[in-house]
Amino acid sequence: MYRLSARAIREEFCKKKITAKQIAEKTLERISLYDKKIGTFLSVMEERVMLKASALDRKRNSGKPLGALAGVPVSIKDNIHIQGEKTTCASKFLENYKAVFDATVVRLLEEADALIIGKTNLDEFAMGSSTENSAYQLTKNPWNLKCTPGGSSGGSAASVAARFCPISLGTDTGGSIRQPAAFCGIVGFKPTYGRVSRYGLVAFASSLDQIGPLTYDVKDAALCMQVISRYCSHDSTSIKSPVENYLKKLDQPIHGQTVGVPYSCLSELDTGSKEHFLEAIEVFKKLGVTIVDVDLNLLKYAIAVYYILATAEASTNLARFDGIRFGKRAKDAKTLEEIYVLSRQEGFGAEVKKRILLGTYVLSSGYQDAYCKKAQKVRTLLIKMFQQAFAKCSMIAMPTSPLTSFPLGKFQDPVQLYLQDIFTVSANLAGLPAISVPNGFSEENLPYGLQLIGPYMHDTEVLRFGFAFESVTPFTNLVPPLFDNNVNK
Ligand code: GLN
Repeated sequence: MYRLSARAIREEFCKKKITAKQIAEKTLERISLYDKKIGTFLSVMEERVMLKASALDRKRNSGKPLGALAGVPVSIKDNIHIQGEKTTCASKFLENYKAVFDATVVRLLEEADALIIGKTNLDEFAMGSSTENSAYQLTKNPWNLKCTPGGSSGGSAASVAARFCPISLGTDTGGSIRQPAAFCGIVGFKPTYGRVSRYGLVAFASSLDQIGPLTYDVKDAALCMQVISRYCSHDSTSIKSPVENYLKKLDQPIHGQTVGVPYSCLSELDTGSKEHFLEAIEVFKKLGVTIVDVDLNLLKYAIAVYYILATAEASTNLARFDGIRFGKRAKDAKTLEEIYVLSRQEGFGAEVKKRILLGTYVLSSGYQDAYCKKAQKVRTLLIKMFQQAFAKCSMIAMPTSPLTSFPLGKFQDPVQLYLQDIFTVSANLAGLPAISVPNGFSEENLPYGLQLIGPYMHDTEVLRFGFAFESVTPFTNLVPPLFDNNVNK
């Protein structure tokens, strides 16, 4: 079963070749066998999933129509609420916090009869690029256990790459779906801002956060989008237009289209990354696509803009964790002020504290104009830069990350790690849809990702280009040898 896509699992289930109970059992068995090696799950919801599976079997046997994800095991990043289950955000602050309502995406998945199996590890409050900022555990890359799965949705990416489930929901504020997908050799899709409801997602930077799928292939990503991209009245930024038919247009050829490549931004790539990226461009040429050079020179400011705005928003969003309303309250606190100070001191990890400090600083009176307002202005310029580029092409291609996955512990200087987000943050700043698809392996056998960024609301097109690429390349749907039962026999 671990080799089957979400579509195939659904089909087996609908054709009564397998029961939901068997699917859940097999999934749990695989997790208990393999997850010790890589630490993807913060919690596995055995009892809950078995109950849901029994109910789903009854539903099937009664002849009722089955949902688009019937019987498909799905994992969820642990910053998205499932009612009655813990949402820790991989933070000590929320160690014992249980969600009081379902996130909209969780409700939609369950209405589509998916089987949610557990909550995956992440960088604390989704702040990071390697999942090393989790307060609980390290997650390892299924292709090489010494390396990071990327972040912040590292647990989600590893749970898919290790073939525990064909779909995981992650969140992407500055690349946290696409970069771990690239590092783990799978597909990761960040929808247009507002396309998927953020209701029930613990906010990091509200104007950038977006939930999206990590999957084996693009078709499953489109299938998942079909289920989760609905208008939601609980999210004021939710887009009101009707759901697109992501699957229908997927296999339309891209012949005659134009792809833009920001060649001048590639100069600092190492040879391996550059070669792989340029080979991907050759693939598009073979598909009958015209390649044009696009000027994205403002990308050099994107990291600075992102880390000013994301930390500013984070400092505001995380103010709610005050020791009074949610999660941790310091035991030794005697006064109101001590409750605030000590609870935050004990509850937050170093990276989160650093970002709150930075965010508070750039928002403080006197510095607001110098940093935040200026960053907002450059954000507008970045949006315009993309609009100009899309006047020349229908899609932009660039690497997902300048690096492949790196050894755990490699980056001691956080700023060096921030700089690795160069290719991903701009899609969030401009609210654009973007995908990472597998693009071969390095000499160390670590995956590369190819990123495609589309115009605002052209999510279907992004998926279509990704599908065209994966259909003619041999990099998708590969099982890491350590997690392949056939190899391990
Ligand atoms: N790596 C980026 C950061 O650390 C992006 C995180 C994300 O997308 N959640 O902020």
